[in-house]
Amino acid sequence: MQFRSTRSQSPLVSFKDVILRCLPSDGGLYVPATVPDMRQYFLYMDTDTSFPELVATVAPALLQGELNPFSAARVAESAFDFEPELIQLDDNFSVLSLYNGPTGVFKDFGVAFLAAVMEELLKNEGQAMILSAAREDTGFSIAHAFSGRKGITSVILYPSGPVRGLDPKSYSTNGGNVIPIQLRGTFDDCQRIIIEAIKDLPFADRYSITTANAINIGRLLPQVFYYLYAFIKLKKKLSGDLLFSVPAGNFGNLIAGLYAWKMGMPVNGFIAAMNANNAFGDYIRGGEFKPGKLIQTNSPALDVSAPSNYERLASFYGEAPAVMRNMVYPDAIDDKTTLLAIEKAWKKYHIMLDPHGAVAFAAAQRLSQSKGFNGHVVVLATGHPAKHADLVTQATGQPVDIPEKFTNLWKKTDPMADIPPQLDALEGAIASCS
Ligand SMILES: *Cc1c(COP(=O)(O)O)cnc(C)c1O
Repeated sequence: MQFRSTRSQSPLVSFKDVILRCLPSDGGLYVPATVPDMRQYFLYMDTDTSFPELVATVAPALLQGELNPFSAARVAESAFDFEPELIQLDDNFSVLSLYNGPTGVFKDFGVAFLAAVMEELLKNEGQAMILSAAREDTGFSIAHAFSGRKGITSVILYPSGPVRGLDPKSYSTNGGNVIPIQLRGTFDDCQRIIIEAIKDLPFADRYSITTANAINIGRLLPQVFYYLYAFIKLKKKLSGDLLFSVPAGNFGNLIAGLYAWKMGMPVNGFIAAMNANNAFGDYIRGGEFKPGKLIQTNSPALDVSAPSNYERLASFYGEAPAVMRNMVYPDAIDDKTTLLAIEKAWKKYHIMLDPHGAVAFAAAQRLSQSKGFNGHVVVLATGHPAKHADLVTQATGQPVDIPEKFTNLWKKTDPMADIPPQLDALEGAIASCS
């Protein structure tokens, strides 16, 4: 599989170069140049196939010539000490729980795979430094995934505010490979300075700099694996249509679903479940994309007014607008409906959803009430309910168990350096810490 920029058909770039460079120089985003048909690899799998087995089979077929089956098995093993879980609720609904990773959000899957595959691809071939901006628990997810990886230094940039959950034993001064740096500024400042560092070619070349931010396709591609996993768990039980309901913020998860479809997964559609920040719905329906004003809701990970994956989605629509309009159904769920959905999922199915999963659940319920619906909707539960315990308790009347890993995650830790929001300050800190 090769990759190209959303803004041009060439050059074609290998997976390794894409994850190590992260962004094409023309300002676009990397997308697969062609998506291979993967049916021969996953259609024979059944409910006995484990998630690491699926990854170890599909990944080398996808990345032929770059990742052999032995390497892929090692990557699957070392990345995933957690798995997705498919919970069938009834004939019409399932929940795909994606929150069993170290920080309790689906993003752990992409980060874990990226770290493991990067180590494997770099073997015997030098070093890389991966710069990431950290919002909330992503910093821990990245530190956890990259800690101890050979040949890789992981620099994590935090905006002003508490830094949480890190293990000082992993810091570069203590023999580890993690360098947490706090920047006196916002998350956007962190992202801006990372882009500046990537563009400062002498510096970027000296340290072989890339980033693990969500825009790295090395995080997006492995999300395909859990769609295929849900499919193989369900396929014997399906009679009508199969749909996925995806809580959509930056649309990475939805795009991964579309890649799974292009790889041959038999699926009839995707619900793009948004909250009040739903300007993207107009675009999906065939209108123009005009970013709205950012609205704060009770599903904050979906509070995105201009999705960073816009160009990736636009390239799908550019190729086949009519097909896409029959594949992706936008919906918008307000805060009150989100709370009611948490309550309903608990009362009817005894399952606890976080507000993001609840947005997808509410949209799935709404679609299932439309005329002639005859199908099965898999609701992506992207976040652990314990991370929004107050809201979940308010909706269900039930106390929420907080796993011990989250109490550790929420412990304050000190970064290695504290700098003003300037590129030279970052470069100085990196030079003295590494
Ligand atoms: C990031 C996040 C989302 C949004 O996913 P995108 O891929 O950005 O659309 C949904 N739910 C949770 C819990 C998240 O952390």
